[in-house]
Amino acid sequence: GHANEDLKALIRTIPDFPKPGIEFRDITTLLLDAKGLATAIERMAAATHGPVDLVAGIEARGFLFAAALAVPLKAGVLLIRKDGKLPGATIAEDYTLEYGTDRIAIHADACAPGATILLVDDLIATGGTARAAIRLLRKAGATVTQAQFVVDLPDLGGADRLREDGIEVSALVS
Ligand code: IMP
Repeated sequence: GHANEDLKALIRTIPDFPKPGIEFRDITTLLLDAKGLATAIERMAAATHGPVDLVAGIEARGFLFAAALAVPLKAGVLLIRKDGKLPGATIAEDYTLEYGTDRIAIHADACAPGATILLVDDLIATGGTARAAIRLLRKAGATVTQAQFVVDLPDLGGADRLREDGIEVSALVS
């Protein structure tokens, strides 16, 4: 497939962030590039199969790509937020981190049962965040069959785990 080397060149690596030994893939440089951003959204739209009702973005960088992608797909945007941020009644899902747990939430009435949802985030590593998001959306009655990311870190296995859960996964760069 397409190597997307043009987009890869717009993503930088910051060593030792957020802690020593971690190489953080920073997509803010892609966001700053008008052509790169438009190209990324065009390719994500082209990789989407069939109509989707909603594009679900994961806080916070996922929101940016979800909103931009929802416009050409003629879909709405569903926010998956850290627990405690949404004003209305919510449903939540816990997931395990390296140390401890975290919790994400959506508005309980955000999607109609059977709504077709495309999940979007900037990056997939272990897949823990995306898998919790999929559990949460399915708990709400949604149909989630596709997930898209700007960056996949394949050595961490998240995309493969999502595929084992029956999700069609695509990422612009690895
Ligand atoms: P996972 O749950 O291990 O797949 O981690 C993915 C989540 O952590 C996503 O919400 C990403 O935004 C964030 N994340 C993890 N590593 C990076 C990175 O190197 N760059 C940007 N975001 C990252």
